[in-house]
Amino acid sequence: MASARPEDARDAAGLTAASDLGALRDHIGDCHRCALGDTRTQLVFGVGDPDARLMFVGEAPGKNEDLRGEPFVGAAGKLLDELLESIGLARSQVYIANILKCRPPGNRDPLPPEMASCTPFLARQIELIGPKVIATLGNFATRYVLDTQRPISAVRGRLFRAEGRAVVPIFHPAAALYDASKRDVLFDDFRRLKVVLDRAEDGTLQVPEQADGRLAPEPDGAAGHDAPHIAGRPSGDG
Ligand code: SF4
Repeated sequence: MASARPEDARDAAGLTAASDLGALRDHIGDCHRCALGDTRTQLVFGVGDPDARLMFVGEAPGKNEDLRGEPFVGAAGKLLDELLESIGLARSQVYIANILKCRPPGNRDPLPPEMASCTPFLARQIELIGPKVIATLGNFATRYVLDTQRPISAVRGRLFRAEGRAVVPIFHPAAALYDASKRDVLFDDFRRLKVVLDRAEDGTLQVPEQADGRLAPEPDGAAGHDAPHIAGRPSGDG
């Protein structure tokens, strides 16, 4: 949403001028554009291949991430590494960033003003990296990228398109730490994600244009498309 505040106009100009991730990080600086700048230990910008074909968008740094300055370094990060390994990818081959770059106190949910202040940085990161596929992890990332209020449980594992990129919503790995039944779902969705990625790369992925940008308001099943199923699914994992 456009703002009349002069500092926002300066920010928009600075974001446009940032021509690579380093310049964008410099532009963000020692950010205090929202109150989280006063309580964080370290700003967590993002990590990975700046030319990644697959980008993960999570929610916000937790305690470990806040201390280390890197996303997904705690127990959820360990599971994310396992999930990546299960589809033949290493963390260095993808890019990982969050909706918020600073930790909300006590790991509470992001607040709308915080998201409004911080998501322009993520939007510019996505533009600069140019991934073919975005995997949104959990409710907040999915709602932002797909501009929807539908819960992750209604859209996970399905294929959408936002601003020309394929989007696959997936449970946040932290969800499996509290609910073991989600672990198998996560591994299943990563197998689908790999198929989407392969097809995006070889040019055979098709997402109908009506899925572009925004989810239809109809009940589950009216919008989005099941990500392709994998023939000959491997056994013994999960
Ligand atoms: S959460 Fe984002 S907008 Fe808020 S202080 Fe951190 S970097 Fe700045």
